[in-house]
Amino acid sequence: MAILMDGKILSAERMAQLRQRVDALKAAGKPVGLAVILVGDDPASQVYVRNKGKACEELGIESETLRLPADTAQADLEALIERLNGDSRISGILVQLPLPRHLDEAAALRKIIPEKDVDGFHIENAGKLFTGQTGVVACTPKGILHMLKASGVPLSGREAVVIGRSNIVGKPVAMLLLNENCTVTLCHSRTQDLAAHTRRADILVAAVGKPRFITGDMVKPGAAVVDVGINRVDGKVVGDVDFASVEPVAGWISPVPGGVGKMTICMLMENTIEAAERR
Ligand code: NAD
Repeated sequence: MAILMDGKILSAERMAQLRQRVDALKAAGKPVGLAVILVGDDPASQVYVRNKGKACEELGIESETLRLPADTAQADLEALIERLNGDSRISGILVQLPLPRHLDEAAALRKIIPEKDVDGFHIENAGKLFTGQTGVVACTPKGILHMLKASGVPLSGREAVVIGRSNIVGKPVAMLLLNENCTVTLCHSRTQDLAAHTRRADILVAAVGKPRFITGDMVKPGAAVVDVGINRVDGKVVGDVDFASVEPVAGWISPVPGGVGKMTICMLMENTIEAAERR
């Protein structure tokens, strides 16, 4: 039976530590605030934004959600970001993705000053991660690494296989695991014989976006399996990992819901606090 990497427990422990850091900031008269920009009315984004607001409230972080209509012009979005860049009450700025299709996501993210880029998506922060310098690390990859370390999963010298090569999960998580001295394989939609790769993995990270895609026969006995996927099936949220068949084979496994998603929000809080502390 696998050890559960329980995002609820791990994030609650971290949130308790974070609360003390917020208190210390406030005692020192340093503002800590998160501004979230939400463009349009994507229902999943509304839920994510609400959860981010709740986490801020729990820690005593000031949070502000700026809602813009779906037909917002690029110039107006960028003007808002610039205003927030200059607002001393705001330590972190987050643009909820995806943006409506007419907007240039990369250009918007570049407008956020790197110091306030608490999502870690700015090209400068991504570049720092890829060149081994200290910058803001994207929340989901950071949360995955924290989850593995806090669960006692050995990393150095181990085979890590990441499925998915997005800029927000797959690539940065591969880089973090490389920095931990894993031997990393990055798989994607054009990978041939995926199972031959996954069966070698001591650490397997699934960030694909396909419900129950990873099955028990694809997993090495004793592996640590991290499920990043959030898929809606018949009104229920399921991951990329078929928990029922993988759990008996794996050494560690993260559930969905209650796994990586919880860690992601917790790391967003941490990045916001770190941004306030750096000022
Ligand atoms: P994405 O769509 O940008 O990337 C998916 C990746 O999967 C691509 O790189 C693609 O090459 C790969 N892929 C697709 N089909 C494949 C196949 N048959 N074999 C191998 N690889 C294949 O998605 P993303 O933004 O990286 O997100 C991935 C999943 O993680 C989604 O379900 C998303 O909702 C979820 N997610 C969760 C969190 C969280 O906090 N838990 C955060 C971000 C994303």
